[in-house]
Amino acid sequence: IEDFFKCFQISCQGATSITTFADFLCSKIDPGLRLAIYDKTALVIAERMRSEVPDFSGSRANLEVCILKYLAQEEKFENYKLYLSSPVDFLESYIQTHVETYCLDQNRRLVMFLNTTLTQYYETIQKAVFASTAVVKGRRDSNKIISLWLDEFCRELGGVLRLPRGDLVGIEHLEITDIEFLNDAMMKALSPLRNRLKEEFAHADLSSFEKQPHRILVEQFPGCKEQCPFCGSVCTNTIPNHDGDHQLVFHRPQVLGKWRVYKTDIFVTDICSSSVASDKLFRVSKYRWLPYKKYRDAGPPFSTWNILPDSSMQKYWKWFVCHFREQLEEFFKGKFHDRGEIPASWHKVTKQEALDELR
Ligand SMILES: [Zn+2]
Ligand SMILES: [Zn+2]
Repeated sequence: IEDFFKCFQISCQGATSITTFADFLCSKIDPGLRLAIYDKTALVIAERMRSEVPDFSGSRANLEVCILKYLAQEEKFENYKLYLSSPVDFLESYIQTHVETYCLDQNRRLVMFLNTTLTQYYETIQKAVFASTAVVKGRRDSNKIISLWLDEFCRELGGVLRLPRGDLVGIEHLEITDIEFLNDAMMKALSPLRNRLKEEFAHADLSSFEKQPHRILVEQFPGCKEQCPFCGSVCTNTIPNHDGDHQLVFHRPQVLGKWRVYKTDIFVTDICSSSVASDKLFRVSKYRWLPYKKYRDAGPPFSTWNILPDSSMQKYWKWFVCHFREQLEEFFKGKFHDRGEIPASWHKVTKQEALDELR
């Protein structure tokens, strides 16, 4: 109703109506511009972080390594608990934390990025005004000029922000002879719009975004979310819902996948890639035991994995198990004893060696 009244005003008031027209048009640009600036800035943040922050400038595998290093440097079991419980969620919150730091630290990059985008888009709108004016200049059919001007204006801005030409039919019947006056009126009307957005951006935080910048960054590190049914490591395929078997290079001690020796509190310290080459058995369900060698016969999720026999284990997990022995016993409710005693050689691994081995 308010729009209708404005349109009515615009078609009735003659000369002063051009100013009203310009104000009205700016009020229509406002929401689309605001949204476009946030969306574009979110992309800029993701892009800048990929080029400036080492953790995010490589592959997903590289990011996983950075996370393991971070966990070891912090040396807090609370963090490991989150990581072991849900590695995919941990990756997301790791990215989110880094985006927050990058945008909101003392450099206040967020405000800078928003203002840079505002300046760019503001110039684009100004250019669209000039371009539209140039197109209709010299036309004599004064009753069609505004309509043509709006056609051109919406077309110019089409790729930048949402401004449906259909929303502007109410103001297209304004008759105009002095197109330069319209041009100036638009420039005058745009200025407060810019000031208002600038004011808003000075206090913006990441919740102002419709699509959070960290979501964009998360999407740039896609991957399968399946975890090995024995050790809980995440499949390293970078295609979500990929064809073929799940697979990964570095499995871990099975205790990290909550495996204990049946009816005991003994942790399974074997690594699954070594178990699958052994003659040992594992319990699939209440009455069903299978040799590890035939783990695929256990049905899903086991049957969807290709675990290549490999007895080597990353030093990282050896160090981790030794360092957090008590916490792990408490967290997974069991003991490193008997058959599940931590091998003596693991104790010799230093944190530095563990970190050096991670590439
Ligand atoms: Zn595994
Ligand atoms: Zn997979």
